[in-house]
Amino acid sequence: MQVLKSYLCGEWVSGEGAGQTLYDPSTEEALGTTSTEGLDFGAAREHAITKGGAALRAMTFAQRGEMLLALSRAIHSKRDELIEIGMKNAGNTRSDGKFDVDGASGTLAFYGEFGKSLGDATFFTDGDAINLGRSSRVSGQHVLVSRRGVAVHVNAFNFPAWGLAEKAACALLAGMPVISKPATATAMLTAKMMEALVASGALPDGALQAIVGPTGDLIDRLGPQDVLAFTGSGATGAMLRSKKNVIANAVRVNVEADSLNAAILGADVERGSETYQLFINDVARDITQKAGQKCTAIRRVFVPTAMVEAVNEDLVERLYGTVVGSPFAEGVTVGPLATAAQLRDVRVGLELLVKSGAKVLTGGSAAVQGKGAPEGKGFFVAPTVLFAEDPHAASAVHEHEVFGPSTTVLPYKTADECIALVARAGGGLVSTVYTDDRAVSAELALGIAAYHGRVCIANGRMGSGWLGPGTVLPSLLHGGPGRAGGGEELGGVRGMGLYLQRAALQGYGPLIEGAVANARKV
Ligand code: NAP
Repeated sequence: MQVLKSYLCGEWVSGEGAGQTLYDPSTEEALGTTSTEGLDFGAAREHAITKGGAALRAMTFAQRGEMLLALSRAIHSKRDELIEIGMKNAGNTRSDGKFDVDGASGTLAFYGEFGKSLGDATFFTDGDAINLGRSSRVSGQHVLVSRRGVAVHVNAFNFPAWGLAEKAACALLAGMPVISKPATATAMLTAKMMEALVASGALPDGALQAIVGPTGDLIDRLGPQDVLAFTGSGATGAMLRSKKNVIANAVRVNVEADSLNAAILGADVERGSETYQLFINDVARDITQKAGQKCTAIRRVFVPTAMVEAVNEDLVERLYGTVVGSPFAEGVTVGPLATAAQLRDVRVGLELLVKSGAKVLTGGSAAVQGKGAPEGKGFFVAPTVLFAEDPHAASAVHEHEVFGPSTTVLPYKTADECIALVARAGGGLVSTVYTDDRAVSAELALGIAAYHGRVCIANGRMGSGWLGPGTVLPSLLHGGPGRAGGGEELGGVRGMGLYLQRAALQGYGPLIEGAVANARKV
């Protein structure tokens, strides 16, 4: 069995004791172990700050961009091997694996090119100089400079490659060193990817470290210049952001948590139209891709009452062809859930939705024998569509995220009612309005915008540029208010903001002008 290692202080290390076991979720076979017990996280933090931070700040944006491009190439060069590991340890189908691994290299490449476009500066000016008197003799100028601590990244199990890359890209380009911690259950892919990143030689000493397993006392050590960026469940996010030292030191925290994303079919859309077909395709993709384990997956499908029957029928039919099983078996389109705990949670969650008034149209919580999996083994769930006839009474549908291959159809009568129902989830990552009508798109999209980090307006004329709402793009914001954690990631320069300190320079204008002469305007 493989023993996974963490990469700390420039060395590959493993902790004491038996540690945790990592499994193949299709067969339940043990694949490896990892332990971080006894590792020196204080030294890792110091190493990041003194070595990594100093080295990154000495690099221009363009040089940091070149570094990110080299990291992107390092991942791409191991693409097949990484995809294979994700199939084995995370239950990804080959296509799910590409989504994760190519998402990682693509995001690094985006920020690499962006860094190059920022040129030889090492920090930003934010806005123009402001005259504070009658002339420019006394003036003010906002700047954004790299924070001098370490960025600790804690990631969820569902994107072991992309999770590390999307956070690290923003922090490294902003000039902050990173200690990244993947979720343990699916960390085999992250550990292998980390090997490729280190071997690339592109990283200055201390710029990127990885903890494969629990973080020990690292979070308790975070101080005023540090950043904690977390992706995972709302409960863990709340626990981490309320730690004593995190509050006392005002550690900057970004939380990406769960979300009950909506797809809204506009009242103008007819069955069989291109926009209708796109809507059905997007919903079906989000049920099946990554076995529904995507924070951006469509969980609630709002449909005008008159169209409910058609949508229910078409969605169920669309899922007929799906094959649940081991990613290594021929023809499988939906892999297993990542862990036994996930399987338990999804089953309990589906039952909760049913108790709340939703009816199962296809799928459900019953055990499934996955194709190519040993008899009775594997964490499989059938693609599931539920229908809640009374959208107001079905509270659990608006409150409980089932993190698996499942969605619920809900009828609505008016745009106002639909907006109010969407808002009942208490804040989300992304929701989509499917329409061909300007008035419908404006009313619904702007009506739900305050509750989201991203709102999509989709119709059948978009062509191949449309990847669906579930694909997080580095150029656009990822995150959302309330339940979604209140965080903001990516979105080009916006994602770097977490790692930059805004300060106002105030005083003698000519000296301020000199101090910022080599800055890049944000
Ligand atoms: P989780 O149990 O909260 O775990 C998330 C991460 O937190 C893991 O790396 C976990 O490490 C770590 N962790 C747990 N306790 C910790 C502690 N005391 N100190 C430090 N780290 C700790 O969440 P999950 O079940 O993996 O993820 C599923 C959830 O994530 C879903 O609700 C989904 O919606 C959400 N999600 C959100 C986004 C987004 O971008 N908004 C993306 C993906 C997933 P171990 O694995 O070692 O326990």
